[in-house]
Amino acid sequence: MNVLAPGHRRLRIGDAWRDATSGATFEVEDPATGKTIAEVADAGAADGLAALDAASEALPGWSATPPRRRSELLTATYRSLTERSEEVARLITLEMGKPLAEARAEVAYGAEFFRWFAEEAVRVEGRYNTAPNGGYRILTVPKPVGPCVFVTPWNFPLAMGARKIAPALAAGCTTITKPAAQTPLTMLLLARIMEEAGVPPGVVNVVTTKRAGEVVSALLADTRTRKLSFTGSTEVGRVLLRQAAGNVLRTSMELGGNAALIVCADADLDVAVDGAMVAKMRNIGESCIAANRIYVEEPVREEFTARFAERMGALSMGHGLDDGVNVGPLIDGDSVTKIDDLVADAVGRGARVLVGSGRPDGPGHFYPPTVLVDVPEDARMLRTEIFGPVAPILSFTTDDEVMAKANDTEYGLVAYVFTRGLQRALRFAEGLDTGMLGINRGLISDPSAPFGGVKQSGIGKEGSHEGIGEYLDLTYAAIDLP
Ligand code: NAP
Repeated sequence: MNVLAPGHRRLRIGDAWRDATSGATFEVEDPATGKTIAEVADAGAADGLAALDAASEALPGWSATPPRRRSELLTATYRSLTERSEEVARLITLEMGKPLAEARAEVAYGAEFFRWFAEEAVRVEGRYNTAPNGGYRILTVPKPVGPCVFVTPWNFPLAMGARKIAPALAAGCTTITKPAAQTPLTMLLLARIMEEAGVPPGVVNVVTTKRAGEVVSALLADTRTRKLSFTGSTEVGRVLLRQAAGNVLRTSMELGGNAALIVCADADLDVAVDGAMVAKMRNIGESCIAANRIYVEEPVREEFTARFAERMGALSMGHGLDDGVNVGPLIDGDSVTKIDDLVADAVGRGARVLVGSGRPDGPGHFYPPTVLVDVPEDARMLRTEIFGPVAPILSFTTDDEVMAKANDTEYGLVAYVFTRGLQRALRFAEGLDTGMLGINRGLISDPSAPFGGVKQSGIGKEGSHEGIGEYLDLTYAAIDLP
């Protein structure tokens, strides 16, 4: 199947694949070349509301579908994604830029949410117990929240949607997903795969648009929408939380991060260097859980820095579909400019570039792996999500000092600690203000674990047993039993 064929560029609303009411389209580009690879329907508010009509009409049938049947459809989606991994992965690389091996890993990760929540769909339970005073009985009944609106980012075009759609369907909710305008194709392909797997019309709707504000605000203003789940920047998350307040919507917010990665002097340095490479360079550094600040304890600073810089300098940059490439392009020219400015700011304040040759000429939105040392505390990159392949290395001398620095941010998504000391690791686990922590590991994403941040990194959890609860309301009944 040609994934760029016209049928894949239309909106998925109810049982139809259709153009935007206005007939408008927008272009999707390959960030490695800057060339247009597809035109996609550009939905307006009316199209968004048509998707909500479809999701609302499908809700009674879907929520009444036996959990075992819902589970089977999620399993069928998992199988199909797995069988078609190469096709999906190539599309991810084409529209987002990440190297093909990483795109394959994203397909495996995204598919796993369908398998995990297929297993959860048949384990939704209520409770029946005696009130403490013995006077009556308490019954709790979990129910699907209702039609859900999902707004997703471009950095994981499949997984960020899968992480929402799978638990929502398991719980009996219907969905409308608005993928990022830069990477709409993968979500359209997922909707096609789910249609072919037998998921009924109206349960999975996908609305692509260049007018996110207009479409999403219309959806959030409509009282039929009962839940918003958003993954993206904290800045846009704040805007959407304000809009969601209008109808007091349930919300899940997966927002930005500013992860500290801490290497203690007693760490196994092989493990620490491997972990730092993954935490920094997975997804070309364009990840909410990317290591943004690397703190190394003074006695091992030189050795860690030399080994990490050597690994960063050996990475090969190019088109993600080419063999041997470890670093693809950034998503767009604005990202390259932002990162170049952050590096210039740090260098202007005294940082030294150990690895990295600055913004390259030529087509595509590339920025080379870069390592900075002697980065002063007031450098902007220590306060901002870098979201690219740039690693500032800093040093520390006491755990209290590094813990205070790591926590000195409005974000609280994740941190990483490398140490052989059990008590030391546990002290960090208790003291770091984050929703997640990697201990001697640079990769923490796992569908069976609760992903999510604290502070301004978000509200709620995705994945794990907790994940399905985000899509369930509880009705409690007090029952007199004389
Ligand atoms: P973004 O600019 O916040 O956009 C995310 C989504 O929101 C896109 O679909 C975007 O649509 C839409 N959007 C933008 N403005 C909107 C508005 N006014 N109303 C409604 N929707 C709006 O984020 P991004 O650049 O795509 O992604 C990077 C960010 O996502 C980073 O901050 C990263 O940390 C965060 N992230 C967090 C997690 C997590 O799990 N915590 C995971 C991945 C990424 P358009 O594409 O049309 O602009």
